[in-house]
Amino acid sequence: MIAPSADSLLRVWEDHQRAHPVQRALAALCAASPELDPGAWAAASIGERDGGLLALHESLFGSELCTTAACPQCGERLESDFSARDIRSHPDALPGPQRSLRVQQAGYDIEYRLPTSDDLLQLAGAGEPERGAESDPERELLRRCVSRAQLADSVLDPASLPDDVVAGIAADMARHDPDADVRIALECPVCGTAWQMRFDIVSYFWGELDDWAQRLLADVHALASAYGWSEPAILALSPTRRQIYLDMVGA
Ligand SMILES: [Zn+2]
Repeated sequence: MIAPSADSLLRVWEDHQRAHPVQRALAALCAASPELDPGAWAAASIGERDGGLLALHESLFGSELCTTAACPQCGERLESDFSARDIRSHPDALPGPQRSLRVQQAGYDIEYRLPTSDDLLQLAGAGEPERGAESDPERELLRRCVSRAQLADSVLDPASLPDDVVAGIAADMARHDPDADVRIALECPVCGTAWQMRFDIVSYFWGELDDWAQRLLADVHALASAYGWSEPAILALSPTRRQIYLDMVGA
């Protein structure tokens, strides 16, 4: 994985303003790993993708992460700082091939693979009104991820599995893909309530990218106004040189 150039990151940001959050994440990851097949991140598990996004965040914006949350008991606003390294379980940030996994529970024998961004995008498309509102997203996801479901010798439709078997598959998925659901432990300093908050790197990363892009465009404006340089010339400057010129023009 490489840190993409300012120009290519800005392009990702500009081209995906109205895109689905999952597509935004995939576009940023593709810009950072031009050596990979374009579909590799879309076919990676959610945890692999989020681990990659954390690594990219680290290379672009540093490893410190800061979230705010409101206490569910008293409403106090909490700021919590933590490091990408605290929540990343896979140091290797590149997507690998999907493995076939197996759950055996109450006589049911299930073969499945982990959900991917491709699955989520397909489901997001299936949620549109014209595609039928009757489908249950969790069952639809099972249908996509389960390659074989059997009870004794009978082959079953994955969407017809009983709830406790579905819960067993979900628990097994979570075990095999721990980075897919990162939780941060919080404790309110006012009332002492402790709870866990889900950390969503997809929306967090895009928020940071958005701030970065707005700042960069303001810098381009300041330098273009002062020196008459073109946008490509200003974007091609290293961040250090850009900052030195910005200091000189007092921006
Ligand atoms: Zn509280």
